[in-house]
Amino acid sequence: MQRLLIHFVVLVVTVVGLSFVSSRLWGGKPEGQLDNRSLVIEENMTVAQFGQRNELPPMLLKKVFDLQGPADRQKPLVAFGMSDQQIIKKTQGLLALQAEHGSKNWVKILVKFGLWFAFLAFVLILMARGQVTATNRKWLLLAAVAIFGVVLGSDPSPMGTVKDAMVLLGSRGVVFPPRLIAFGVFLLMVIVANKFICSWGCQLGTLQDAIFRLNRDKQDRKGLVRQFKVPFVISNGVRVAFFVAIVAFAFLWATDIVESIDPFKIFKPQMLGLVGMAFVGVTLVSSLFTWRPWCHCLCPFGLVGWAAEKVSVFKVRVDYDKCIACGACEKACPSTVMGAILRRDRTIPDCFACGTCMETCPAKAISFKAGKRSKPPAGKFADVGTVRSSVIKQSGA
Ligand code: SF4
Ligand code: SF4
Repeated sequence: MQRLLIHFVVLVVTVVGLSFVSSRLWGGKPEGQLDNRSLVIEENMTVAQFGQRNELPPMLLKKVFDLQGPADRQKPLVAFGMSDQQIIKKTQGLLALQAEHGSKNWVKILVKFGLWFAFLAFVLILMARGQVTATNRKWLLLAAVAIFGVVLGSDPSPMGTVKDAMVLLGSRGVVFPPRLIAFGVFLLMVIVANKFICSWGCQLGTLQDAIFRLNRDKQDRKGLVRQFKVPFVISNGVRVAFFVAIVAFAFLWATDIVESIDPFKIFKPQMLGLVGMAFVGVTLVSSLFTWRPWCHCLCPFGLVGWAAEKVSVFKVRVDYDKCIACGACEKACPSTVMGAILRRDRTIPDCFACGTCMETCPAKAISFKAGKRSKPPAGKFADVGTVRSSVIKQSGA
């Protein structure tokens, strides 16, 4: 227990400390923040006066009013056939897009995507060859945390592409095209290999996973201190409700409810307030005892990725001719997903393609391959203990 605590504290302090230094070196741009200024419109105002009063750049005014020449700047606002509300909404939308654009470090983003492709391709090869082991899994997770979180920061992230897009659309009525492209790329990664961007690329997902693995035995099969598998119906129910809340607050009250608790800010710790610190602390401590609590219970990309993984090309597959129905993979799987795969349940929870089941199987019946999962012969797993009931004790202690 003492050893576990020391490892946990060392890992978290190292991540926070190095992230603090790294985010300052990158220049600390306030990525993804909404421009919340309120705009002033007075009676008989001209375009030029509106621009001056609200400190708006000429290019932005040109886009709002579709100005054809300098003379248009002297025209009154009423001449453009828009209500005051329409003018404010359009201006705020364009301001939001401008702020988004200005907040991005495009060099860093391109480097990050390049490294994501290379790293995920490398892990995919290891997974396909069955070479992800208890030892190299920990190093791969730590490498992902270091590269995609500590060095390259909190943004972009798979979660951000979904959450920020919904908030921007809901609160300002605009779409930031680069974010849609990033979202498409992340989704493609999920579709190529089962949730791979979450499994091995997401800075926060891999950090939670690395912490979870600190509390596992040498073979990575059970918790040193008791670990729990939360039933999918509960974790996914909470995740769906949170997703609906994000959308509702964005569209109805132009509010980003994730902003103050955003756990990705652990990689930009100077942006964390007190509430954020408390939330991140709870998330990381919980990660010792349950697998990826943020991913399973709250992450909006986690939810989208879970839906998309149903059509993933590469996924964990069981060869039922070799399988001896011992249930070892189900016990070792950090979640309830392997039990659901074995029994071909109607709802299969998120598989984060960690490879634990593959390494554990004594009959080498599990692989990470392209193609559809086959169905188990009827009754094959009737005697294997169920893992679906309530909260499950996983530790063998
Ligand atoms: S589900 Fe987890 S791994 Fe995937 S984007 Fe969300 S935080 Fe990252
Ligand atoms: S079934 Fe479980 S152990 Fe196997 S890869 Fe998926 S999450 Fe990991």
